Amino acid sequence: MKILVTGGAGFLGSHLCERLVAEGHDVLCVDNFFTGSKNNVAHLFRHDNFELMRHDVTFPLYVEVDQIYNLACPASPVHYQYDPVQTTKTSVHGAINMLGLAKRLKARILQASTSEVYGDPEVHPQTESYWGRVNPVGIRSCYDEGKRCAETLFFDYWRQHQLEIKVMRIFNTYGPRMHPNDGRVVSNFIVQALRGEALTIYGDGSQTRSFCYVDDLIDAMILVMSTSAEFTGPVNIGNPREFTMLELAELVIRFTASKSKLIFNPLPQDDPKQRKPDIALAKAQLGGWGPKVSLEDGLQETINYFKRQL
Ligand code: NAD
Ligand code: UDP
Repeated sequence: MKILVTGGAGFLGSHLCERLVAEGHDVLCVDNFFTGSKNNVAHLFRHDNFELMRHDVTFPLYVEVDQIYNLACPASPVHYQYDPVQTTKTSVHGAINMLGLAKRLKARILQASTSEVYGDPEVHPQTESYWGRVNPVGIRSCYDEGKRCAETLFFDYWRQHQLEIKVMRIFNTYGPRMHPNDGRVVSNFIVQALRGEALTIYGDGSQTRSFCYVDDLIDAMILVMSTSAEFTGPVNIGNPREFTMLELAELVIRFTASKSKLIFNPLPQDDPKQRKPDIALAKAQLGGWGPKVSLEDGLQETINYFKRQL
């Protein structure tokens, strides 16, 4: 198949392109290199079935493909808050452009949505039926509301134009090729520990997240795309093992054998207090899929990657 991956030069996108190229598909990777880079996909240039195109998805795109994975959007709070107007445009105009393309081509399209659609959740763990608690006017809103609006657009194209859509809500995912300066907690802690700098805990570190290793996430993404036409999602994808940020910091310090201390910084506005996916739907729909890589093993891989980078 000919497959378009928007945001393909980013962290998740580059792993997805790698997998699709290995499966023998013709992969068109589209990216504006805001947070992604050519380096992330440079190893794919030698494959005839891989092509890289610089393009901003807020502008229309005219190509011919059979499937679309829409991942274009900065994902870390530091990056999506850098130019919040562009973040909303990327989610909303990007979705409209990619859905329009899918409509013309009658192509199946998958949206990389996010656990952020649940905001700071009162329901724990989060199920797909929970509508969320999102501040519409805060510093995270450009991302959260942009992604929520993109979901709305996907479902309206499905109802109105019978498009084959797949909406997948991704929970915190980590692994090699995360941007060292993107400010996300796993990359921050590892880079700080390797440099012997203090690990920055925001708030008291009691807030929780559930971390999924990138390989497990990509397995699920490809399975979601290949579900029957009737299945639209939204479907949660992530690893339900929940950790406090203090526990994560302790693991990173242990695995890097670092002498780094912890420092406590103010908690950013609207930072969710807890997050953990209910993945029962994914397990039922994806032929028994479940995360295989433990945080311990995944951290080790990620630490080895950052050691090489630094
Ligand atoms: P990333 O920042 O590494 O990748 C995003 C990619 O999109 C980058 O290559 C960037 O340059 C590109 N991009 C941004 N704006 C663009 C535009 N206007 N036009 C074209 N390309 C553009 O982040 P990631 O972690 O790989 O996230 C990929 C997708 O998955 C995002 O949509 C994100 O919201 C979603 N997601 C990721 C996580 C996670 O934990 N990694 C969690 C939830 C959702
Ligand atoms: N965090 C932290 N120290 C850091 C970076 C992040 O304590 O150096 C916290 C952050 O406040 C949040 C959690 O780690 O509670 C996860 O943050 P991240 O930016 O990785 O993802 P998100 O908040 O989008 O889930």
